[in-house]
Order: sequence, then C-alpha cells, then structure tokens
Amino acid sequence: MAGIFSFICSCCGKRHEGSPSFGMKAPDPFLEQSTEIRSKGHLGDDLCHYEDEDGVHYFIRVTLEIPIHGIEDGFLWGVWVSLSKKSYDDYIETYNQSEIDSVYFGWLCNYLPYYKKTYALACDVYPQSHKQRPYIILHEVDNDLYDDFKNGISIEKAQEIAEFCMHG
Ligand SMILES: [Zn+2]
Repeated sequence: MAGIFSFICSCCGKRHEGSPSFGMKAPDPFLEQSTEIRSKGHLGDDLCHYEDEDGVHYFIRVTLEIPIHGIEDGFLWGVWVSLSKKSYDDYIETYNQSEIDSVYFGWLCNYLPYYKKTYALACDVYPQSHKQRPYIILHEVDNDLYDDFKNGISIEKAQEIAEFCMHG
C-alpha cells in the first residue's frame, strides 16, 4: 500500500507532513510586463491575460503531478500554461460542466525552482469537472522536469526539492 509523505526537515528541523504542493502565483511572462500592461490585463486565481504589441496572451492555472515512489499523492506543482484564445474561451465556457472531454495544447509558463529549465515545455491540458484545476501531461522532451514527470522521484529527492522550495 502506498504511504503518506512525511519527513524531518534538514533545514528547519520540523516535521513536514503530506505530499509537497507548491503554487506559482502568476505566469512568469505576466510578471515580466510593465506595470501599465499588467494593470490593463487580468490576474486571478485561475485565469490570466494581458495584451502587448504581439496581441493578447491567455493563461490558465493547472496542476503538474510528479509521482513519488511508494507514496500515494505525488509532488504537486501549481503552474500556469498559455493557451490559444480558442482553448481559453472553451475552458471558460465549459468550466461549470459536469462532463468535460476537451484537451488543449499548452506551453508551461513558469520557471520552477530546483529544475534547470521548465519554461515553454509543451503539454496537453486536461480540464476537470467539478471545478477542479486541470492537470497537464508534458510532451516528451530531453529535460530534467520531464524525466521526473515520466519516471517519478524517490522520497529522498522529493524531500530535497521540498526543502529547496520552502527554505531556498
Ligand atoms: Zn523545513
């Protein structure tokens, strides 16, 4: 039976319980915009858009789960992906439906801590019913985050990443 993740932190000495979960507050491209562009755009808990000289950019918040060997719940990242306008509109339109079978193409739009390169990885986005955040499946690529997504990580590595995220 798969266990529950828990460890004594080598940084703060406390016990951290439950599988790690870290959320990114905004898509990184949004944070890189000027105050003016950001103020005319929108950043909420689940949706974000802004307009620059290239047009309007659309983002939604999703989850990326990295399996932890022998542990029931994976290491959960709350991340932002960019979508086409068509997918973004469809996501909003179907948000309250109980059955959703859409799949969107997206680009991961965060620089995650610990990993070397996570920005602009391609993925498929699976919206969920009952207003659960969509999850993503990364496309195969030569990348350390993809390797962990595909193969899972040891409990020791999960602890190492969690400590890095919590305490720098
Ligand atoms: Zn700690």
